[in-house]
Amino acid sequence: MSALKSEYRLALEAGAQALDAALDGLDAAGAVRRVLAGIYPGESCVVSSFGAESAVILHLVAQAKPDTPVLFMDTGQLFDQTLAYRKALSERLGLTDVRTLSPNQDHLKADDPDGTLHQTNPDLCCHIRKTLPLISALRPYKVWISGRKRHHGGDRAALPRVEIQDGKLKLNPLFDWSRDQINAYFEAHDLPPHPMVADGFPSIGCLPCTTQVSDPAEDPRAGRWAGQDKTECGIHIGEDGVITRTGG
Ligand code: SF4
Repeated sequence: MSALKSEYRLALEAGAQALDAALDGLDAAGAVRRVLAGIYPGESCVVSSFGAESAVILHLVAQAKPDTPVLFMDTGQLFDQTLAYRKALSERLGLTDVRTLSPNQDHLKADDPDGTLHQTNPDLCCHIRKTLPLISALRPYKVWISGRKRHHGGDRAALPRVEIQDGKLKLNPLFDWSRDQINAYFEAHDLPPHPMVADGFPSIGCLPCTTQVSDPAEDPRAGRWAGQDKTECGIHIGEDGVITRTGG
């Protein structure tokens, strides 16, 4: 790593520590409000898949600052129900700046002309359909907010409240929430569920890579890339330009 990149990394790490300290003692709602309306107004956004549990983080964001940019990746392989839910939930919560990100058409033509790359190289498919559009859309921001949680297990079991990803600070306000807390929040705020949850989909991504989970006690992400050695879409580009697999 060059001296410049090392300095950049050190500054990011210092920023992550400072943000974590600034959020000390705050609950999830307080942390979201402090970042969006206090420390980083105009420099923060939220990334959402409008999936099974997304309504909770989106409700917290809408309560704090409803004009927060919400970045939504339409991979071109999503369920129709997710696209309908994005529209209905955005309207219901009063979110006024939901932005749809799409894969670069040249990348699709070159690497996935017939839409079957997920069968042969799902990492590359996620990279061109999710990661590259996201990295590009995140450029203007210093902080992004995610709804990930430790209870999802796998790479997420040790999730911190503040982390560094793709050269940005990333806030995970729900990092320590249990499934029961999520369910209670849905109930307390009368939030509409994703329409596929009742059909046995506790985690919802792209159509070809999402299956039902029959046992409710199972890892909620068991239906994502089932049967494959892949649990996250995350291929990310480090400050040294190297592509790495991480929890993302
Ligand atoms: S989840 Fe599947 S279809 Fe969606 S981008 Fe990743 S590999 Fe492709």
